[in-house]
Amino acid sequence: MKKIVIAIDGYSGTGKSSTAKQVAAKLGYTYIDSGAMYRAVTYFFLSNNVDYHNLEEVRKSLSDCQIKFEGSSILLNDKNIDHEIRTMGVNQNVSPVSAISEVRQKLVDQQREMGKRKGVVMDGRDIGTVVFPDAELKVFMTADMDVRAERRRKELVKKGIEENLEAIKENLANRDHIDSSRADSPLKMASDAKEIDTSNLTLNQQIDKIVEMAEGIIHEG
Ligand code: C5P
Repeated sequence: MKKIVIAIDGYSGTGKSSTAKQVAAKLGYTYIDSGAMYRAVTYFFLSNNVDYHNLEEVRKSLSDCQIKFEGSSILLNDKNIDHEIRTMGVNQNVSPVSAISEVRQKLVDQQREMGKRKGVVMDGRDIGTVVFPDAELKVFMTADMDVRAERRRKELVKKGIEENLEAIKENLANRDHIDSSRADSPLKMASDAKEIDTSNLTLNQQIDKIVEMAEGIIHEG
């Protein structure tokens, strides 16, 4: 059967990851969380005291930063960092780190390699615009800020992290701003993407919508 690439982009906290993961499971595709890769580099910089404002330091240290997935877990130099990448410290630094072109180049190359055999669902900010501009299906997810913040709070609670709603909103708004205004690969909707506003949709409705779109494309030839 024909295999496709599904690119899911959108603002922080719109439910991209949970949706993408289950869309992949339903189609028997591989799910790739590109945001986790940017978080992993951020964690690497923070834990190794790399001053990421200093490009020379960034260039030197990036070659010591090996990121890979093992099932749904993310490994940094072979150590599982699933929990470490979800802390507020990483949340607060990940957007400035993601604006660094050297970081993006390294991760985009790796993402393209992971998607070259197709059969992947990748979520992020620039997947439909930069990483896979030829993706057969592109989705752009949006949702109201209050809905997004509450979803993110619940997600963090499940991971054992308690965070105040206002602090979460501030972080989401701040990341949206940096992600949309950076010079390299800013967050924007690809002209051929389908927009889905998830404010009033359940997770299952979001998943079903995308699976239906994907199946239409897979079976059309
Ligand atoms: O998806 P998630 O919210 O975990 O992503 C964390 C951050 O990583 C985003 O706010 C953005 O700064 C960055 N990112 C990016 N490009 C991607 C995925 C994530 O710049 N493809």
